Amino acid sequence: MGAHVLIFPLPLQGPINCMLKLAELLCLHQIKVTFIITQHIHRRLLHSSHAQPHSTKYGDSFRFNPIPDGLPHDHPRTVFEFSELMTSLGAAAPPILHQMLISTDDHSPTCVVADGLLTFATDIAAQARVPLLYFDTISPSAIWTYMCLPKLIQAGDLPFKDDNQDEYIRNAPELEGIMRHRDLPSFCRGAIDFTDPQVDLVLKQVHHMPLSQGLIFNTFQRLDAPVLAQIRNLCPNIYAIGPLHALLLKNRTSCYINSTSIYQEDRSCISWLDNQPARSVLYVSIGSLCVMTKENFFEVLHGTVNSGSRFLWVRRPGSVAGLDPVEIPNELSRATEERGCTVSWAPQQEVLAHPAVGGFLTHSGWNSTLESLVAGIPMICWPHYVDQQVNSRFVGEVWKVGLDMKDSCDRVVVEKMVREVMEVRKDEFLERAKEMSEAAEASVGEGGSSAADLDRLIDDIKNMKL
Ligand code: UDP
Repeated sequence: MGAHVLIFPLPLQGPINCMLKLAELLCLHQIKVTFIITQHIHRRLLHSSHAQPHSTKYGDSFRFNPIPDGLPHDHPRTVFEFSELMTSLGAAAPPILHQMLISTDDHSPTCVVADGLLTFATDIAAQARVPLLYFDTISPSAIWTYMCLPKLIQAGDLPFKDDNQDEYIRNAPELEGIMRHRDLPSFCRGAIDFTDPQVDLVLKQVHHMPLSQGLIFNTFQRLDAPVLAQIRNLCPNIYAIGPLHALLLKNRTSCYINSTSIYQEDRSCISWLDNQPARSVLYVSIGSLCVMTKENFFEVLHGTVNSGSRFLWVRRPGSVAGLDPVEIPNELSRATEERGCTVSWAPQQEVLAHPAVGGFLTHSGWNSTLESLVAGIPMICWPHYVDQQVNSRFVGEVWKVGLDMKDSCDRVVVEKMVREVMEVRKDEFLERAKEMSEAAEASVGEGGSSAADLDRLIDDIKNMKL
């Protein structure tokens, strides 16, 4: 019997992107994959790829297994109800996962790959005697920050005694001298509320990670070697197989899983980009979940317009609170028509790889950060919550491929940062981003660290026993 992996992502765009890429890589290496997905997300995937309803060229090798998430059909499932979704999924999914793992047919699973936040998988996999790998689809630096939290709490460093957000944290190797209070995940600000479901989820995740057979990360050695070394002290078996989208491109001969997007892409922005000068366009997007206030929307728009830069803006429905559809004053409308393009969802990887794009104003989600690094595009980081606060600090302070706008959203600051990245320090940032892009490419190429870790992962999965 061949290897058969059950992959169980969080029902969110970012993790689904990553895990579908991993699924495709496993299928390319003759490993069968069952992809557990909530019915809600499955419907959205089918809808967004309307022309070709998620056909794959793998036949029997790949299949979706849609399951209920336990929430009512008409539940909004926005980021504001994330804890509710996790609680509901945490009740609905375990019996289903258990049944799938104890199945005795020819195709019974030989390994589970679950998102690190789905901690119920630890006990279920152990009971069924099926090996479990956790895949943490956020950045290793954010995961290492999470792993340091219990120690910081124990040492009395957390909660912070004063609210000087610019003070550096202590007692956290590889984070000292880099991270200030304001760079920690958003739930660490002020008093930590241990009854906050988000805090509970993260602390549980930290506790469960070492109980798995290994951890998978979407990163590459050159980018994250120091934090990976720290994580290895607690969880020795790590597979750093990123950037996954670049690794997949190196491995596949054509596109197999035809779309990983739960939104419908508007490709008109590509022909608009075709008519713009090289490196002249700022790409603006806050990902699939973040919501900005109306005031912040206008600060960022004014700042971008005042910078004089051309821009491509993703205005995802619902991404501006209380402003749908967005009504824009005349002077901004004119500038948008003259030098801007707006879409509701973009083919982001293709946009970032386009020669007309020269900068990315991003919310610093981990997928967006990696996609920008691979494309060699400098970033202006406007993090909103959780790991994004950590990622933006590493972009600005450690990797030096952009600027961290953290905690300020003011049109003057936005204008200044856009000018810095698109004009004043353009060559310096592009040069640095190119170095990172080359390092990422080398890691997924022949003999590269991520390619080697993928080979090891595939061998281990094929030979796995508990
Ligand atoms: N994305 C996209 N089109 C858009 C905006 C985002 O395809 O217009 C994709 C992007 O390429 C990335 C994912 O959505 O792979 C967002 O993931 P990320 O981790 O950056 O942020 P999240 O949405 O999870 O906050």
